[in-house]
Amino acid sequence: MFYIYCPHCEEHREEEEFHAAGEAHIPRPLDPENCSDKEWGEYMFFRTNPRGIHHELWVHSVGCRKFFNMTRDTQNYEILEVYKIGEKPSITSAAAKLPAQSKVQEGV
Ligand SMILES: [Zn+2]
Repeated sequence: MFYIYCPHCEEHREEEEFHAAGEAHIPRPLDPENCSDKEWGEYMFFRTNPRGIHHELWVHSVGCRKFFNMTRDTQNYEILEVYKIGEKPSITSAAAKLPAQSKVQEGV
């Protein structure tokens, strides 16, 4: 058992209250009706699977039911930081692809 800090509730809660919802910062095509099948397919199905720093989307499903992001080290499962949707992580790696703020709309 370990605890995860929820940035909305502002307290540590048991891990069983949370669910991972996949990779964070996936840029949604701005005009889905007019993007190519390749662009839409990449948005829907292709994800990175890095060894090391990884930004993930989590939801406090049994608590406040709000989504937030987590930076985690996939090599040792250490949670490095949590931050709200729309905020930028303070920890990044060269492999992590973060979208430019002005060109994308974060999904959720
Ligand atoms: Zn919460």
